[in-house]
Amino acid sequence: MATTLSPAQHEVLDLLRAADRERPEVAPELRDGLRARLDRELGAIAAGLAEPLFAGKAAIGRVLACEAHHLDEQATPFEWSLPTARGTVAHKAIQLSVARADRPAPLVLVDDALERLAGDPGERIADFLLALSSADRAELRSDVNGIVATFLELWPPLERSWQPQTESPRRAELCGGMVVLSGRVDLTLGAPRGNRAGRVVVDLKTGGRHAGHLDDLRFYALLDTLRVGVPPFSAVGYYLDSGTFTAEEMTESVLEAAVRRTVAAVTKLVELKLGLRSPSRTANAACRWCRLRPDCSAAVVDDPLAQEL
Ligand code: SF4
Repeated sequence: MATTLSPAQHEVLDLLRAADRERPEVAPELRDGLRARLDRELGAIAAGLAEPLFAGKAAIGRVLACEAHHLDEQATPFEWSLPTARGTVAHKAIQLSVARADRPAPLVLVDDALERLAGDPGERIADFLLALSSADRAELRSDVNGIVATFLELWPPLERSWQPQTESPRRAELCGGMVVLSGRVDLTLGAPRGNRAGRVVVDLKTGGRHAGHLDDLRFYALLDTLRVGVPPFSAVGYYLDSGTFTAEEMTESVLEAAVRRTVAAVTKLVELKLGLRSPSRTANAACRWCRLRPDCSAAVVDDPLAQEL
């Protein structure tokens, strides 16, 4: 296969294989140690909860960036739009592409994805897709087609022996089930062997790069470690619009950073939920679209793009 790949596909393949890097072996007690530590550090605050608190990457990222913005987002019902639908449909189309052996054209995958999402009453996006005007549907098809075509052009075909999995759910229940960390990994390749790392987790992003994406990848790596006991050896953020990526080796010190960040965020989420703290305001990249901005004295006033990577 390698001789038929384009240079861009080779680049992705080299990144995924990382053949020159030894896969680290971790102590068998790593998972239990991480879990015990999270239980210990969150136990006291979680004891005040009357119902489980669910924390995913979005809430964790938001509350650490600006508590007031997080509370406002949480209180506002989510509304679908063409930009938000774009990512969901693109992820579904790519999921279908990974599972199919016949390499259909991108637009075929997009139409399959639209049909499946619209036809599944369990999908939150279904009603939005069913109500689209023909012009909006055409715009969405066209946008997603571009994303999927880029993915198929830049990524090598994923061989079955790489054990590709898409949209894999991850969930960790802590503090007797009162704190639930969860996420859905876009794509994983490989698997650990015994205590030796062997998996790559991939987060596919639409839109531009943001410093928080690296933290999202670390959070996924932590969830994977809490599930299987061995961290991924690498976490990759792939930017579908630009065909570029970031990658980080998942060492124990990176996991340590993920644990500290998770504890800090969950502590804030619980304290805000229980009314134990007043929400602080911190200027960040989200000021650009924050509904509180007109009356917010803390809002960022300079070019927020400067805060992006
Ligand atoms: S405008 Fe910025 S600082 Fe103010 S609440 Fe919104 S995100 Fe926070």
